[in-house]
Amino acid sequence: MMYIGSHLNMSGPEYYLGTVKKAFEYGETAFMFYTGAPQNTKRLPTSSLKIEEARALLKEQQFNEEMIVVHAPYIINLGNIIKPEVGELAVSFLKQEIKRTADFHVRKLVLHPGSSVGAEKEIVLKTIAQRLDEVLIDDHHDVLILLETMAGKGSEVGSSFSELAELINLSHFPERLGVCLDTCHIHDAGYREDDVKGVLKEFDETIGLSKLKAIHLNDSKNPRASHKDRHENIGYGDIGFLTLHKWALKGEELGIPVILETPYFQEKAPYKKEIEMLRKGEIEDSWRDKL
Ligand code: FE
Ligand code: FE
Ligand code: ZN
Repeated sequence: MMYIGSHLNMSGPEYYLGTVKKAFEYGETAFMFYTGAPQNTKRLPTSSLKIEEARALLKEQQFNEEMIVVHAPYIINLGNIIKPEVGELAVSFLKQEIKRTADFHVRKLVLHPGSSVGAEKEIVLKTIAQRLDEVLIDDHHDVLILLETMAGKGSEVGSSFSELAELINLSHFPERLGVCLDTCHIHDAGYREDDVKGVLKEFDETIGLSKLKAIHLNDSKNPRASHKDRHENIGYGDIGFLTLHKWALKGEELGIPVILETPYFQEKAPYKKEIEMLRKGEIEDSWRDKL
C-alpha cells in the first residue's frame, strides 16, 4: 500500500473536517497540514477546529492516522543566536505546537531545523539541539519531531544528512526526533537524488534509516545544487517523473507517508492527478493543461 497525499489547507468553517474531506476528494491515503497560518503565531483553539467530526470520518473510511503529518510554522527559528528572544519565542511556540499536534491525534510534526543568520554553524547546531531539549524535557506527548532536509537557501541549517545527524546526536531526546526527506530540497542541496539507493545508503550511514519517517515528494524548478527551494509539479522539473516515482515506491516499501507540496497550476490543485500517476507509475503528457 502506497501512503500518498499532499499538503492541504485548513480553513473555516469546516477546519479539520474540511481538510479530511479534501484528502478523500483527491484520493489521498496520507496528508499534511498546518494547525494555523504558517507565517504567524495566531492560533485558534483546537477545540474549535472540528477534530472530533474529522476523526469520525477518518475512522469510517479506515484512514490510517499514522500517515497524517503536521508541519510546524516556518516562523519558528531555533537557530537564531543573534537575537535570543527569537529563539525563546521559537521554543515556547514549538511546545504549544506539539500539544496542538497531539490534540489532532497526529504523531508527526515536521520542523525546519532553523537558520543560522550569519553565526558560526557549529555553535548554531549546538544551540538548536539545546533548544530542542528545552522543548522536549518537560513534554510527554506522543509526538515525534521530524527535522526536514533543507535546500540550503540562505543560511538554512540541515541541508546535509551529517548536520541532521549531529542535531539528533547532540540532543538528549534522540528518540523524540526523526527526519523528513524532501526530494526537491536534497536535489537543490546537491545530492544525486536520482540515485535513490545511494542517497539512502548515505542516509543510513549518517543518520540511520529507521529515522526516516516521511518523504516530501516535489519536483524542482532549478538545477541540482542550486540551493533555491522552489517546488515544481511532478514531471515538470529538474528531477523528473522516473526518479520521483522511485522515491514514492521507496516510501511505500518503508511504510511512511509520501506528501506532495507541489504548486497549484492556474489556481487548480494538481494533487489528485499527481497521486493517480504516481500510483500507476505512468506520467501523462502535458497533464497540467488538462486539470
Ligand atoms: Fe517544509
Ligand atoms: Fe518540504
Ligand atoms: Zn521547500
